[in-house]
This record gives sequence, C-alpha cells and structure tokens, in this order.
Amino acid sequence: MKDYDVAVVGSGPVGSTLARYMADEGYKVVILEKKRNVGVPLQCAGLLGKRIKKINILPQEFIMNEVYGAYLHSPSEIVLKVSKKHPEAYVIDRVAYDKYLSDRAVDSGAQLLLKHRVDNVDIHNGDVLVRNGEKISAQVVVGADGYNSRVSKLFNPASENYEAVQFLMSVKDEVDTDYVHLNAESKITPGFSWIIPISESLLRVGLFSTLSYKEASTHLEAYIKKNPQLKNSAFIKKYHGCIPIYNPKKQIVKNRTLLLGDAASQVKPTTGGGLTLGFLCAKLASEVMIKALEEENMEILQEYQVLYGKKFGRELKTQRMVHKTFKSLSDADLDFMFSKLKEEGAEEIISEYGDMDTQSPLVMEMLRRGIIFSILPQMLSRRISSLWK
Ligand SMILES: Cc1cc2nc3c(=O)[nH]c(=O)nc-3n(C[C@H](O)[C@H](O)[C@H](O)COP(=O)(O)OP(=O)(O)OC[C@H]3O[C@@H](n4cnc5c(N)ncnc54)[C@H](O)[C@@H]3O)c2cc1C
Repeated sequence: MKDYDVAVVGSGPVGSTLARYMADEGYKVVILEKKRNVGVPLQCAGLLGKRIKKINILPQEFIMNEVYGAYLHSPSEIVLKVSKKHPEAYVIDRVAYDKYLSDRAVDSGAQLLLKHRVDNVDIHNGDVLVRNGEKISAQVVVGADGYNSRVSKLFNPASENYEAVQFLMSVKDEVDTDYVHLNAESKITPGFSWIIPISESLLRVGLFSTLSYKEASTHLEAYIKKNPQLKNSAFIKKYHGCIPIYNPKKQIVKNRTLLLGDAASQVKPTTGGGLTLGFLCAKLASEVMIKALEEENMEILQEYQVLYGKKFGRELKTQRMVHKTFKSLSDADLDFMFSKLKEEGAEEIISEYGDMDTQSPLVMEMLRRGIIFSILPQMLSRRISSLWK
C-alpha cells in the first residue's frame, strides 16, 4: 500500500494546478516543496495571453494591468505597432498567483509539505526521498520542479536554459499602460528584451538570452541607460531566473514518473512563456493519470508523451523554426526584415492573426500572402552580396 496516489515535486503554478485537478477527483495527493514560502522570489514577467482565463482559474484581483498590443523594435528603431481592439494579454502578480494556486490545491484536499526538498525518486516504484530523511511512496510521481529539475535528470540529460534578468523600475513620467515594448537585437536573439507596464509608474524591464547572467545584466543596464522612455526611471529591484530551452526529444514519462511544466521544458520556443502550455499539459497529464490509476495500469502513463506530441508538437515545431530563423539574423538582417514587414503591411496582419500563444496561424497567413517568400530571398541575396564586399 502506497502512502499517496500522487506525489507532486514542486509547488510552482503548474505543479499546484495538477495537484488540484487530482485532489478534485478524490485522489490522495501530496505536494513536496523545497522552499518555505510558495511563489518567492519572483521569476517571471507575468505576461499572459488572454486565453489563460479559459485554461485556468485567474481571479481579477491578480491582474495588475491589461495590454492591447505591442511595439516591436528593430535594432535601429524601425517600429512595428501591433494592436487589438480588446485586451490581448494580462500582466499578473505572479507571486500572489502562485500562492493562490497552491492554496486552491490544498483547499481541494492536497497536502502541501513545505521545506521538503526532494533529493531522489525511484522512478520504477514511486519512492521519493526527501532531504530531511523522510521517505514517501506514491503510485505516480510528478516532477514539476522547474527548469533545473532533479526528477528530469533521472532519465534525461541536464536541460539547457536561457538566462533571464529583470528589473522592477519606477518611472516619473506617466507611461502608456496599454502596450508592451519588445526589442530584437542580434546580440540577444533568439531572446529579446521587454518593457512591461504594471501601472502608470511601474515597469518590468528585462531580457532573456544565451548570454551569461553577468553579460545579460550589463546588457540590460546599458539598454536602460540609452532608452529615452526610461530616462526618468529608477531601479527598485533585480530578479534573476532561467528559462528552459524547449527540447522536442525530452522524455516526459518513465515508469511511474511524469514531468510537467518547466521540468518538461514545456515552454513556447518563441517567447519562453511557460504558464499557458504548462497549464494545458497539467490538464492532459491529469486525464492520463486518472485513467492509469482507475485501471491500475501504469503502462497507460505513456499516453501522456504520445498525446503531448499530438496536441502540441506541430505548434512547437513551427515556433522552433521561427526561433531558429531569428537566431541566425544579424542586426542588419533584423532591420531589413522589420522595414520589409512594415512595407508589406505586416502590422495589420500581425494585429489580426498574431496571438501570444499560437504563432502558426500567423506564419501560415504570411506564407499564404507570399510575404515570407518575398523577404527571405532578398535577405539571402543581401547576405551573399555582402560576402563580396
Ligand atoms: C524572467 C522570467 C520571465 C518570465 N516571463 C514569463 C511570462 O511573462 N509569461 C509566462 O507564461 N512565463 C514566463 N516565464 C516562465 C514561467 O515563469 C515558467 O514557465 C513557470 O514558472 C513554470 O512553472 P512551473 O510550475 O513548471 O515551475 P516553477 O515555477 O519553476 O516551480 C517549480 C517549483 O519546484 C520547486 N522545487 C524545485 N526543485 C525542488 C526539489 N528538488 N524538491 C522540492 N521542490 C522543488 C521550486 O521551489 C518551485 O517552487 C518567465 C520566466 C522567467 C525566468
């Protein structure tokens, strides 16, 4: 007889959501969290596409701002404005939201054990070893322990991550709270930098990239100094985090153990956002786990890997292609691309077809209208001719 039906390692937003789904179905669930407080420190820009409300509970009190679109900046300030009639995304209070999701899991009957750092899991029999010496056994173990997942490392190579740095800044001049600013430059692509308004006087300014933490911090400081929008801003707080690089080869089920959220590198390759996909995968994993527990057949857990590929594989592949393309572009390429997109009327097309979470409809529309085909050959020929200069 096992101690629990389900042991979830990590009370991040995704692990807590899965724990709630399972506890709601009457399963005996434990969440093992290494920290003494859920949600801190903040490691997120807190920008979520509006679809989030259809995917998970998000009470209004955690929404600090609603944005209608974005200004996309090229290295030499060719700017594309993308805008919707209705709010496209929410800026949320991530620390409070993480705590809320963890509390809801407990309300549903899950047991939350704080200061319980998991050191090892026997993936075959579901025994979990906690650093304080406790041993817990479960029918199914879920590794929802973030980008540096200990559970994932039991059957995957260590994941590769982007470094992310973010400053909380106050501003004297009132800012336009309706738009975020996203900046592309070759030094940090395939990542980008952002300015996200929380209120008229508070901003989250950050970047993610393959630079080291130190280089990324220096780069962000220089970006803030030279940005006219931020000339009357003051630094309040610095945050650091990592974003897993999406890995299509990652094994997310092994024996009685599943991976979820950042631990499974379930992030959008283009933006590094992990909440929407993580929550969708929590639903998917819970459905497969319920079936496996009901039929007392742990082989069924393998369906999670298959269904994950079927449901999200195509979109993730498209995003990976976009991401790879951006990675190879120089500043001159990016400027050229932005000016061509502007010329071809892409602002309207992005405004209509662009979506924070799914990029394939936009890519398909750009292909259909021949925009991508008109830009790429010109970029290639520019590159080739520059070789002869
Ligand atoms: C700077 C930055 C900005 C971001 N901005 C956005 C954004 O705007 N929108 C978006 O959607 N996503 C964003 N993300 C990504 C998002 O924060 C993650 O995808 C999300 O937190 C993943 O949730 P999770 O529950 O899988 O993992 P986490 O939130 O990392 O939670 C994992 C939990 O596991 C615990 N844990 C770890 N190891 C152990 C262990 N051995 N034993 C017990 N507990 C353990 C941790 O303490 C933690 O509580 C951003 C990330 C960063 C770094």
